[in-house]
Amino acid sequence: MVISKTMQDAINKQINKEFYSEYLYLDMAIYFFNNNLNGFGAFFLKQAEEEREHAMKFFKYLYDRRGEVELNKIEKPNIKFTSAEQVFEEALKHEEFVTASIYGLVETAKKENDYATLSLLNWFTDEQVEEEGSMDSILQKLKAAKGHPGALMMLNSQVANRG
Ligand code: MG
Repeated sequence: MVISKTMQDAINKQINKEFYSEYLYLDMAIYFFNNNLNGFGAFFLKQAEEEREHAMKFFKYLYDRRGEVELNKIEKPNIKFTSAEQVFEEALKHEEFVTASIYGLVETAKKENDYATLSLLNWFTDEQVEEEGSMDSILQKLKAAKGHPGALMMLNSQVANRG
């Protein structure tokens, strides 16, 4: 069944948010590389790659449903980063925003009786639980470290191998 125009437009908006997420995480990676915290930098490079995969998952889906992708302007990330803890707070806040956006898509798909899109969105709903969980677990460790340089360096090398 060809995807509805309403559902297509909503997914195109989400594609833009996923590409923005890629940009935001690249910006966070830059902050860490500039501050000699390459482990955290590598973590956010990996996160950025995942966001691109999310965008492409929706991209391919629209074509499978005989819809059309519309590429829109990607916003410039505009957050001032001041500490590792603050970056992870922003990353968690952003993932919560994306989760709410996925829930909005679920509502639209329900109204449109679009079962195929609901099925795709189940994957994204599960993925968001993981994304929020991984950001929060690192954030809690950073909070416990209380800015102690030794603890920060230890976490920096731990997260380098994650994601
Ligand atoms: Mg995403």
